[in-house]
Amino acid sequence: MRTQLADFIKDTPEGKEAEEIVRRCVHCGFCTATCPTYQLLGDELDGPRGRIYLIKQVLEGFEPTQSTQLHLDRCLTCRACETTCPSGVQYGRLVDIGRGIVEQKVERPRGEQLARSALKHGLTSKLFGPAMRAGQAVRSLLPESLRAKVPERRDAGAWPNRSHARKMLLPLGCVQPSMSPGIDVATARVLDALGIEAVRTAPSCCGAIKHHLNDHAAALLEVKRNVDAWWPHVEAGIEAIVMNASGCGVMVKEYAHLLRHDPAYAAKAQRIVELTRDLAELLPPQADVLMSKLQARSPERVIFHPPCTLQHGQKIRGVVERLLQDLGAEVLPLAESHLCCGSAGTYSVLQPELSKQLRDRKLAALQAAQPDVILSANIGCITHLASAARIPVRHWIEWLGGKLP
Ligand code: SF4
Ligand code: SF4
Repeated sequence: MRTQLADFIKDTPEGKEAEEIVRRCVHCGFCTATCPTYQLLGDELDGPRGRIYLIKQVLEGFEPTQSTQLHLDRCLTCRACETTCPSGVQYGRLVDIGRGIVEQKVERPRGEQLARSALKHGLTSKLFGPAMRAGQAVRSLLPESLRAKVPERRDAGAWPNRSHARKMLLPLGCVQPSMSPGIDVATARVLDALGIEAVRTAPSCCGAIKHHLNDHAAALLEVKRNVDAWWPHVEAGIEAIVMNASGCGVMVKEYAHLLRHDPAYAAKAQRIVELTRDLAELLPPQADVLMSKLQARSPERVIFHPPCTLQHGQKIRGVVERLLQDLGAEVLPLAESHLCCGSAGTYSVLQPELSKQLRDRKLAALQAAQPDVILSANIGCITHLASAARIPVRHWIEWLGGKLP
């Protein structure tokens, strides 16, 4: 697609990047077939090709409207379109740029501004943990809509206290430590069983929440804060930076791109990305050792929901399923596994109707297979699916951690 960039963006790094991405799109429309919002709404402007066209118009100087903003807001940033696209269009990066411009040019209604601000500051605030614990204490009394966002409190188990020469950094995120602390404990226990010490950081957001709410400047501050906090561990020789939430992993793997023009941070961010590994990249080579550590149990029927941030964002596909199988589980096939569950960060709060439709469609596919447990790899998907599931929904590392003595 040829573009004539408007003066306001022509000579900026974002403009050049967006132009290069838009040029790659050949209008073929293959991506619409796998786009969840196009499938639900059937409107070209609620599919990737239509959104690319809207962004192209904005780049060329057409004034965006609230309707432009709505079509971009409805996008889940699931990036299924990137997986499908034969031309390598980096839609995720383009929509970030497009949304950033539209956010500056279109004023949101007051209610939306307040909701977005509350999410941006509330989810990443130090008060989130105490508020979550208070919500969990009175969970049964909460209205259904709120209860869906508050997972039941479960015993997290004990953090391993052995020290090992091999060390990996385990950055604690913003919401996971209070919503589901067992995920971090299980990660540390599995690493401990492999002779690796998980070095925790203080909880902090990876920047994804603010970034996807179009506050790119505030997100960048969080990114730099993390680089500063993690760098001493990098210098001390940690082997890897472990990600157990695929939504955070995909963001951290973008750090080098986000900081590429910052002379003080570019090289550090590049090194951090080189060290960053999702659990699905770290553990499969250790499958034999892990198998030897597991307690013998009767095989379980499990089904794995691959988060979009894992399969489309990080391009890690089929790996967890194979590992679970190697570890003795019966892994059931999942229909429409490429489709988003509707969680998508803050999307379930900001677009509740679409989000619910996608959740129910995903749960129907997952539960039709009649598994003993639904497994996934991202706290957002797990909480969202668990809010309406008839069977337990867990992180796969918790499932694995539960099999260690
Ligand atoms: S599949 Fe790729 S090239 Fe084809 S319309 Fe979609 S984004 Fe453009
Ligand atoms: S990111 Fe997902 S929702 Fe957005 S256009 Fe692509 S496929 Fe559709």
